[in-house]
Order: sequence, then structure tokens, then C-alpha cells
Amino acid sequence: MTRDSNSRPQGDPRTTDRIEIITIGDELLLGFTVDTNAAYAARRLADIGIVVARRTTVGDDLTGIETAVRAALDRTGAVLTSGGLGPTSDDMSKPAVARVFGRELQLDEEQLRRIEERWRKRFGGPLPATNRAQAFMPVGAEKLQNNHGSAPGVWLQDDAGRWVAMLPGVPREMRGMLDDTLIPRLRATSTGRVVRSRTLRTTGVPESALAELVRAMQPGLELPLAYLPSAEGVDLRLTSRELQSHQADALLEAQARRLTDALGAAIYDDGANSGQSDLAALVLDACRHRGLTLAVAESCTGGLLGARLTAIPGSSDVVLGGVIAYANAVKTDVLGVDLAALERDGAVSESVVLGMAAGARRVTRADVGVAITGIAGPTGGTADKPVGTVWIATDVQGRTASRRLNLIGDRDEIRVRAAQSALALVRASLPG
Ligand code: AMP
Ligand code: MG
Repeated sequence: MTRDSNSRPQGDPRTTDRIEIITIGDELLLGFTVDTNAAYAARRLADIGIVVARRTTVGDDLTGIETAVRAALDRTGAVLTSGGLGPTSDDMSKPAVARVFGRELQLDEEQLRRIEERWRKRFGGPLPATNRAQAFMPVGAEKLQNNHGSAPGVWLQDDAGRWVAMLPGVPREMRGMLDDTLIPRLRATSTGRVVRSRTLRTTGVPESALAELVRAMQPGLELPLAYLPSAEGVDLRLTSRELQSHQADALLEAQARRLTDALGAAIYDDGANSGQSDLAALVLDACRHRGLTLAVAESCTGGLLGARLTAIPGSSDVVLGGVIAYANAVKTDVLGVDLAALERDGAVSESVVLGMAAGARRVTRADVGVAITGIAGPTGGTADKPVGTVWIATDVQGRTASRRLNLIGDRDEIRVRAAQSALALVRASLPG
């Protein structure tokens, strides 16, 4: 006997606060398909306070699926699978999960009629035998309606209230079924807790140094903190998993404020809004607010800084332009960098970067000049100035600041880090 998704299964599922996700498919193991389903499901489950305790990926293999589902069910009693529900021989989720629950597969006449009708409308003619497989359901299973494809999802539950929900692998169908059917059902049984995060963005301080500052905080943080480094800086994510919505928000706010106090200027976004701020946009806002215009002079970044700034809508009221001064002759002839200084100190030096920042202002009449010169590699490094040596400078209406950076990474990363560091220096150099 199979039940329709409208009727409740015997014995309500117990309160779900922890779940495991199992994604199924050889293509996932081989790396041909990126597992976006698990990421999507995890985010949606977090919204309703369900913690994803573990994610597993297995191939299209009956025993592999069975073993993984049994182990996950033993740990949490609540399992979401994606994939392996199709009509072909590599689709083995239903038989595998039926085995875990000790159930037979049987033909669901109603489902068969639905599939036959759908087939007739779309392709005409009789249903191929392989597609009949989609009409077999484990005994006692409940169908989860699929508004976005032919294969229904399957909900299977035992007397103890332990359950497995099987969703299709096709991402559009998986998302649709999750949102339409499963999330509303799980929300109804959830504890009211939320899994909520807040992300603070930092730049200019290495991960290990940030961790040192966090460790020194007295008292320590009350929430777990994830360090998420990229070429632009380190994002810090606080996550609350145990609290009701308003308590979580209040604690995240308080902890974010303490982090901001502890880390100071390294933080450029305290996460109050999105935690996705672009430093370039913040620099533009800061200039606009003070009525300042800006121009760039770039050597090793070759226009990256200008591109970051002009990618922001509305940048034209702040950004006047810039010079890509790659060759020394452009540094001297266009930007007016002192030839003697260049010959004495080299193109990657404080005197040259200051000359470039001043030159950017002179040729554009901007209030703020910002300059970058460095060695992005992979060649061109020396003992004194290895690859990753970058000088940045700002000239704000004649008040200058400069900094030598020793950046790590490949050519791309060094260029991205250099542009980000220059933006941070502008932000730090603007009048209060
Ligand atoms: P299946 O339901 O296993 O037949 O999967 C159908 C298709 O959905 C596969 O060919 C993949 O392209 C895609 N797919 C399956 N699993 C995932 C997943 N976890 N993330 C993203 N795409 C997937
Ligand atoms: Mg598959």
C-alpha cells in the first residue's frame, strides 16, 4: 500500500533538529557534476533551524547507498537523499532504502497511470518498460509530490519515527520539491530554533594573526567562529545553532560588536546588513561623503583597481580616471615620476609609488590619488624584492601614505591582494 502526500504517515515524525544529507551519483564522485543540491538543501534547512550534522556522497551502487543510509539513520534518525530516483538502471535509491527499512517494492497503480499519461501527452505511444520502474514504491512509502518533473519523491518512516526523504537529483526538481513539500513539513515539526550566521569581513591581517586576537579576547566568544580566507581578506562567520530567532539575532549582534572592538580597523563590514560588502563600494561611499574625487595609477595590477571601482554603479561621481603605467617611460613621461628616483630606487619602490600617486592626481585633477607598483611574478623577483613585493600609496590632497606589502600567492592572487590592499589604504587615509 502506498499513501498520497496529502495523508499523514502513521505516527508523526519526531521533532527534527539534526539531519544528514546523502547525495547519490557517480558523476558527483567523479567531479563532473558539482554537488549543488547538498549546499542548497543545507541552506534551506538552516533557515528552519535544522542542523546538517553530516553530508555524504555515494555512487550509483545499491550496497553503497544502503550502507550510507543505514549509518546516517542510526546517527540522526533523519536523512535526506538526492539522486538515483530516475527510470534507468543506475537509479537505485528506492530499492536501497527499501532494504534499510526491510520493505518490498510494489507497483503503485496510480503512479503508473500518472506516468503513462504524462508520457502519452509528451511523446505519444506506450510507456517504455524502463520508465515503469518509477512507478514502484517501497511498501508503506508516502509519495512527495513533484511539481517540476515526473518522478515523485519518497518519504519512508519506521515505527520509531525515523525517516528518509528521497528527492530527485535534477537540481530544479530537487529544489522545487524541497521548497514545496519538505520544508513546510519539517517546519511544522521543528523546535523553533534557527541556524543563523553573521559574516564580518576583514582585510590586511592574516588568518593566524586574527585567530591570535580572537584567542586573546576576554571573555571568549560564545559562538563558534569560522575563518574563511580568500585573496581579498578573511571573512569571519559567527553561527548560532541553538537559539530561537530573536535570541539568535541578539547574541549575533552582541558577539559581532565584541569582535569589531577586538579587531578594529581590520574589519570593513561588521555584517549588520549583508556581510557581502565590496571594499571598493565602501571606498567610493567614503569619498562621495567627503566630496572627494579619485584617480588611480597602476603598474602590476594593470587596471584591476580601476575595474573594481568602476564596476560599482554610480562610481562616475567619484572616479575621474587613471593611468596604467606599466612601462617605466609611462611612469616618468605621463605620471611625472622622477627619473633619477626611478633609476636609483627601482620601479618597485616607495619614491616611485608616491610619484605615481601624485601623478595620478596631477593628470586628472583628482583629490585622491592611489598607486600600485609591484612584482606579481612568476618572474622578475630578486633577493631584495622577491615576487609579491608591492608598494602602494595614497595622496589625499597632498597628504601621503605608503606601504610596502609582501604578498603571497600566484600572479592572479598577488594582483587581487594588491588592489584590495590599496583600497584599504585609501579608506584608512581619508580625513575623519
Ligand atoms: P538522478 O536523479 O540521479 O538521475 O540525477 C539527474 C541529474 O541531476 C544528474 O545527471 C546530475 O546532472 C544532476 N544531479 C544529480 N545529483 C546532483 C547534485 N547533488 N547536485 C547537482 N546536480 C545533481
Ligand atoms: Mg543519477
